[in-house]
Amino acid sequence: MEYVYFEGEIVPEEKAKISIKTNSFHYGTAVFEGIRAYYDKEQNKIFALFFKEHYQRLFKNMRFLNMEIEESIDELVEITKELIRKNDIKNDIYIRPIVYFSDLEIGPKLLGYNAKIAIYLYPLGDYIDINKGVKAIVSSWTRLNDNMIPPRLKVSGAYVNSALAKTEAILKGADEAIFLNKNGYVSEGSAENIFIVRDGKLITPPVSDDILEGITRWAVMEIAKDLGYEVIERSITRTELYIADEVFFCGTGAQISPVVEIDNKKIADGKPGKITKEIQKVYFDAVRGKIDKYKHWIEEI
Ligand code: PMP
Repeated sequence: MEYVYFEGEIVPEEKAKISIKTNSFHYGTAVFEGIRAYYDKEQNKIFALFFKEHYQRLFKNMRFLNMEIEESIDELVEITKELIRKNDIKNDIYIRPIVYFSDLEIGPKLLGYNAKIAIYLYPLGDYIDINKGVKAIVSSWTRLNDNMIPPRLKVSGAYVNSALAKTEAILKGADEAIFLNKNGYVSEGSAENIFIVRDGKLITPPVSDDILEGITRWAVMEIAKDLGYEVIERSITRTELYIADEVFFCGTGAQISPVVEIDNKKIADGKPGKITKEIQKVYFDAVRGKIDKYKHWIEEI
């Protein structure tokens, strides 16, 4: 993508460079977001999904790391729209805002530094498979917890934990990893929240089980309830994964992604589940503006 937002301006990408001395680059003390915008060919329009909600989460994360930037949430929404228009986007994209300490100083701390935001766009189709289903492993790496690097926030440094688990999955011939938390309960994927289906009910770990406060997770709960399914937030044990009727990941990148195998064991018949597919269909219609009830989730650009 040609243009990015950097140091208060929309500039050509090659002008957006940071020094190797940049503080956050060394200590992982940046916070970021992943926002999707879907291109509608028929209308030749772009629709951003949960635009404000992502920036609101970014600001909550910034507050936690004592970061302040010049731009407000409303201004960032406008800047992002301008960036999309300027890049003349004609496909589905991922929007990546990142807030970092730009000081050229050594020392891991969250005080006395200056924060800046950069935003760039990235063409993104499906991040992981959404049709035939993914193979997952239960990672041997434990999910971080709230007293380490809080998983409920999108802090760059926390993604070392994700990278370890994802790498382990790939090396074992799988597509994704599922973390257990320090108490041995299921938490989430490397970059996705997780749901299981048992006896027609959807079950997902509570935020206190060391998961990101996922926006897609919230949307899935809304869709499921609207379809008449019971949704339960409770701890899930490892064995429940293997005996579940259905398992799926969800996330801005992952969208709704069926899990068909875990640790080489098939989930039910090893095919994407019926309820997963039903929720997936509603989700994809919603993000493309085809369902009136969910139109407020998207914003035309
Ligand atoms: N968990 C983690 C660790 C993630 O990185 C993501 C992606 N942002 C998710 C869950 C899903 O969150 P969301 O639906 O807000 O994208």
